[in-house]
Amino acid sequence: MTAPVPSRRPSLAVWKFASCDGCQLSLLDCEDELLALAGAVQIAHFTEMTRRHVDGPEDADRIREVRAVSRHVVTIGACATSGGIQGLRNFAAAGEYAGTVYAHPEYIRSLDTSTPIADHVAVDFELHGCPIDRRQLLEVLTAFLAGRRPIVPGHSVCQECKGRATVCVLVAHGTPCLGPVTRSGCGGLCPSVGRGCFGCFGPAETANTAALAGQLHALGATADELARLFRTFNAGAPAFRAEAEVQHTVAVALRRRPTAPHGRMAE
Ligand code: SF4
Ligand code: SF4
Repeated sequence: MTAPVPSRRPSLAVWKFASCDGCQLSLLDCEDELLALAGAVQIAHFTEMTRRHVDGPEDADRIREVRAVSRHVVTIGACATSGGIQGLRNFAAAGEYAGTVYAHPEYIRSLDTSTPIADHVAVDFELHGCPIDRRQLLEVLTAFLAGRRPIVPGHSVCQECKGRATVCVLVAHGTPCLGPVTRSGCGGLCPSVGRGCFGCFGPAETANTAALAGQLHALGATADELARLFRTFNAGAPAFRAEAEVQHTVAVALRRRPTAPHGRMAE
């Protein structure tokens, strides 16, 4: 009997940490390209796609062990790149959320903080979004298979609005919109249906959050509202986190001075 010929295709492993499965489903959503991709790589681990498994680490050191056995590590989605929506626990007592949401919080066991993968191991590329965009995911996979750097723009959602001739909801209607400081990738989805962007792709490369906060404050947003606006899917991303902390500090100071106006305190 002839011994099996070892596969020369590169291995692709998709590891899930604390998150929903939305970003992994983006890979399965690549319907037209999926067969070609499956032919180009050997799926080593992907619980959404195959029953085949390589032996993998199972304990709290899983991230470091994945790094140790991988040539390239790419993190995908807000959970992996900034701690995700569960990163809100970083600004509160996590147990309070569990007590509010679950009838029996005593059965819940979770970490006190949620942090990006890059806080723990070296990461070769971060793909942002909640969930990620499947075209950008294909670009990243294609780039790594070809041995080149992925071409994923870091500019803001505003450029996508301009590209598709969407009327600006912020300028035309005064609708709060995080598009000026949010990374592109969605095609400007929310403004295209008349809604403000709420930042699900995380901060753009040059995010001037202070300028946007000033503009939103001028439109009537309070410091509390601004802090909440920056604390959603990417609350742990440095630019959003820093602006939320500024606004939270202002809000706390204003609560101590009830007669002061809302928003950033005047010098
Ligand atoms: S609608 Fe929002 S994302 Fe679009 S151009 Fe206006 S501010 Fe930018
Ligand atoms: S417009 Fe903003 S909130 Fe809406 S999908 Fe795009 S990045 Fe996400």
